Amino acid sequence: MKKLLIINLLILFANLLLSQSLVKILADDLLIRKKVKEDSSLIDRYIEYEKRFKLLVDEAQLNTWIIKTDTLINGKRVIPVVVHVIHTYGPENISDAQVIDAIQKLNIDFAKQNADTAQTYHLFKPRAANCAIEFRLAKIDPNGNCTNGINHIYDPQTNWGYFNTMKQYHWPTDKYMNVFAVNFIYPEGIVLPDGAFIGGMSPFPPNNPLSQALTGGDPDIDGVLIRQDCMGTIGTATNVGGMGINLVNRTFTHEVGHYLNLYHPFQNLMLGLLPAPSGCPSFLAPNGDEVNDTPPVAAATQNTSLDCFVPGSRNTCTQDNPDEPDMIENYMDYQWGYCTNIFTNGQKARMDAVLIGIRRPLWSKENLIATGVLDTNPSQCAPIADFYANYTTICTGDAVNFYDVSYNGFVENRTWSFSGGNPSISTAANPTVIYDTPGIYAVTLTVENSNGQHTKTKTSYIKVMDPVNNIYAPLIQGFESGINNDWTIVNEAGNTWQVTDTASASGIKSARILNFAGNQANSKDELISPMINLTSLSTSVILKLKFKYAYAGKIIPGTMGLTENDTAYDKMRLLVSANCGKTWTVKWSKVNEALQTVATPKQNSFKPTANDWRSDSINIHIYLTQQKTNFQFKFEFTSNGGNNIYIDDINIDNGTYVSMNEYSRDLIDLKVYPNPVTGTSVVEFYLPYESSTLVEIYDILGNLVNTLENSRLNMGIHRVELMKQMFNSSGTYFVRITTNEHSFVKQILVH
Ligand SMILES: [Zn+2]
Repeated sequence: MKKLLIINLLILFANLLLSQSLVKILADDLLIRKKVKEDSSLIDRYIEYEKRFKLLVDEAQLNTWIIKTDTLINGKRVIPVVVHVIHTYGPENISDAQVIDAIQKLNIDFAKQNADTAQTYHLFKPRAANCAIEFRLAKIDPNGNCTNGINHIYDPQTNWGYFNTMKQYHWPTDKYMNVFAVNFIYPEGIVLPDGAFIGGMSPFPPNNPLSQALTGGDPDIDGVLIRQDCMGTIGTATNVGGMGINLVNRTFTHEVGHYLNLYHPFQNLMLGLLPAPSGCPSFLAPNGDEVNDTPPVAAATQNTSLDCFVPGSRNTCTQDNPDEPDMIENYMDYQWGYCTNIFTNGQKARMDAVLIGIRRPLWSKENLIATGVLDTNPSQCAPIADFYANYTTICTGDAVNFYDVSYNGFVENRTWSFSGGNPSISTAANPTVIYDTPGIYAVTLTVENSNGQHTKTKTSYIKVMDPVNNIYAPLIQGFESGINNDWTIVNEAGNTWQVTDTASASGIKSARILNFAGNQANSKDELISPMINLTSLSTSVILKLKFKYAYAGKIIPGTMGLTENDTAYDKMRLLVSANCGKTWTVKWSKVNEALQTVATPKQNSFKPTANDWRSDSINIHIYLTQQKTNFQFKFEFTSNGGNNIYIDDINIDNGTYVSMNEYSRDLIDLKVYPNPVTGTSVVEFYLPYESSTLVEIYDILGNLVNTLENSRLNMGIHRVELMKQMFNSSGTYFVRITTNEHSFVKQILVH
């Protein structure tokens, strides 16, 4: 009754059509298979490790060693825990109550106090183990400061949590069991299909060669990485993966099993080298999960509905002696959490061995003192200030709601300070503040209780946009002179939008994300336009935002993923805003093959040819008829490990579509300085080639005030003088430049 191996991920398909396809995928198996293929000596190291580990298991089972120790607390080994909640101030910033609930449920399972032990198949009941392990949130942090053991950290990588996250935020792994609650787990080198997600993962103890193969041997990558909605049974855990139900509330129990060196009952290390073996023991693959009282299982026990299999009803391996049914209720198999209810004595023996081996320092008396967990009173720490706002980019006159999300201790008193805001000071938990003056402002929050005080300042946090700084349509962006400063690029991680001359739909340049390599799967890249005033366009013709793009998927031959020959695709959306970027409306969205502009995905870094470009448009006429100002758009790309994306010839114009030989707004680089005009100012612009050129001044009603230039001009920079005396009165005017193909407008003020 031995089985071999490994997989330490739990992957689920989130699918609202529950009856159809709730399928778990063994991506962890693929990870290990890849490692074994790359280096088959891993199997030798594994066998050698397990041989030595068995000696430790035997030693632990003598029991005397454990009983003699003075660090048992109420007969249990107490393990200090820190939970790092990685978040971007959304629901993934789970509450302390949810974390505490998760620790409580974990302790119930490890102490065999779970009510559903009654569901255990009668044959297996005598094997159910009280693991005599208790997990306690730390009370003292690595610097000796007071902590409640829950560390809330802002970081967008919550959406692609992986070993890097563990590496970056861990506390000393010999003092704490580190738990990282993230929004989405995205292993490097794996392609997740739409809707699939990984519930949790834990590399084994760092001296296990399988852990070393996964983490590259970095001992700091040690702990449990878990989706925030797989933590506990309350809060976000009541809606795992958006499925509206707490499907996997024992992911935590399962992953901590891996942390304490347990394998799955169905696995087989030889899977990486042999053609299609099963988890059943065979001559070539004898090891299974290295535990003697968990019957072998051919493959992960997976429910395709929400029902549990009847205990004792399945027997996928018959070569065990005596032949026993599968222990489908084992925490380390793959049924939904609520179908599982047992660790066995054999599994406990492995945990015991790890606890007198590499995990011994965790529950040593000196560590229990150092981490403060001997004190069972509620923690009494000073709060750590933290906050967020519902909007950070607004128009003048808009209101912003602020939220105090300070942690680590109860907030008795707080003081907010809002530079540029009204009010400028508040003591409310969640104040509303109005900003009337354009600018960029800092926000400060100070929180305190009788144990201490903490202050957090976010500089340049609230951006109040100035509508006067709108640029004027028509807008033609061909990226021929780069991306102008009034455009904004948001790069969450890895490569992002940049101008390239690798390919173009017209001219010689376009904007591209080099996504084939060097971008982070599940991170976003945004290309945001300046605010645009549409006033100069006629409402008589429907206004559209037109653009061209080119994209290919990516073939990943013979590597790992969900199949041996994966294709990875990405996602792009086009969103618009008319309120200074406060809120955005999705106008266009394409994902997977629908985004692809070529016939087939590519195996190499995609470079489009002329035929690979696709034109598309969105109707934005309502913004011309109803508002005219502060119009913005953004292209938002979400990587999923696919290929490069290109954009070119963005055009807001209700004339004909503009491509070759058109001057982009950026191309002519129209400037007026100084502006406002108080004496003599200069109108400066650049012509990319010779053109007839008309430079005119209009008033706000569209009346021609003056003509500054009307001649054929050479390629190059041109400057025309503008004097205050040309205007009848102070106020708002427009400079308009008309070339062979187009006209450009810039607003000026005359004082
Ligand atoms: Zn697992």
